[in-house]
Amino acid sequence: MRRNLRALPKAHLHLHFTGSLTPATLRKLAGTQGIRLPESLTDNVALRVPASERGWFRFQRSYDAARQVVRTEATMRLIVREAARNDRADGSRRLEIQIDPTSYAPFVGGITPALEIVLDEARAVSRSLGISIGVIVAASRTHHPLDARTLARLAVRYAGDQPGQVVGFGLSNDERRGNSADWAPAFAIARRGGLKLVPHAGELRGPAHIRQVLDTLHPDRLGHGVRAAEGPALLRRIVDEGVALEVCPASNVSLGVYADVTRVPLRTLYDAGAQIALGADDPLLFLARLTRQYELVRDELGFSDAELADLARQSIAASFAPESEKRTWIGEVDAWLATAPADTYPPHPAAARF
Ligand SMILES: [Zn+2]
Repeated sequence: MRRNLRALPKAHLHLHFTGSLTPATLRKLAGTQGIRLPESLTDNVALRVPASERGWFRFQRSYDAARQVVRTEATMRLIVREAARNDRADGSRRLEIQIDPTSYAPFVGGITPALEIVLDEARAVSRSLGISIGVIVAASRTHHPLDARTLARLAVRYAGDQPGQVVGFGLSNDERRGNSADWAPAFAIARRGGLKLVPHAGELRGPAHIRQVLDTLHPDRLGHGVRAAEGPALLRRIVDEGVALEVCPASNVSLGVYADVTRVPLRTLYDAGAQIALGADDPLLFLARLTRQYELVRDELGFSDAELADLARQSIAASFAPESEKRTWIGEVDAWLATAPADTYPPHPAAARF
């Protein structure tokens, strides 16, 4: 007897722009443009690579191939709309979608229009689909830290906690690239401009690097952060400082961080009192959307419905939505937990199920 996890209200705080696409939409977009996709994007098999630089290279090559189909404003708008629709079908009340506008700038006239297109569509979709969408601008570790300062200044111009505004500033790509401290000036610009800070860390590198990111970038949340479980003192610090962790179990397995979901140290993080928000990261490549993360945590890690509701509450609390909305959604989680569990429940018809 279990409750419907798709109906569990939650917030989705770790989702990348092109990585949010469904394989079917990607194939359609490629088809209409006559673009040939590599087999890794068409075989309907979740990516599995070792957590080495070679493994990351394979992941990045697939991601770049997918990004090839994103060359128009219409496609960018479609990505936001579909991400919102799929998230809503997964019970998400709040989506914070992450984008590096640099990647799409050449096709739409620069980084400013690239970001404005996403913000404009996020605003429209928030109204029409009943999901609140905040945008996170993410710099890439593969670019010069000075580029990150430019992005931070751009992001700050659109800062705010209303749908279609920029709520946060991130740092993505291979965590082993560059020295995190070099991005401190960009993060300081973002902080001064009112943005929350959400760099990736604690996925491919362990506690020493997480400590450096905490010391130099002063994050509000960590993208992943799972490997904080390897350092008890560090984990206590994360809990004490209230830094939330965006944990993406299916992604961790796909990218070889853990051999399978049973090895993801979610229980350690949870029991230590860390604030956790489950996320899908790049469902296009890992073939697992938001609800699937909760299912994996239930099936593979033995979380009860009460604990899953707690994770959902934590995801909402860790979002950067206005407090009044968070209270409403948390009340909806309580209502979900108050419903009686059933033997079976119907799948959501609108959802792309992987
Ligand atoms: Zn990520």
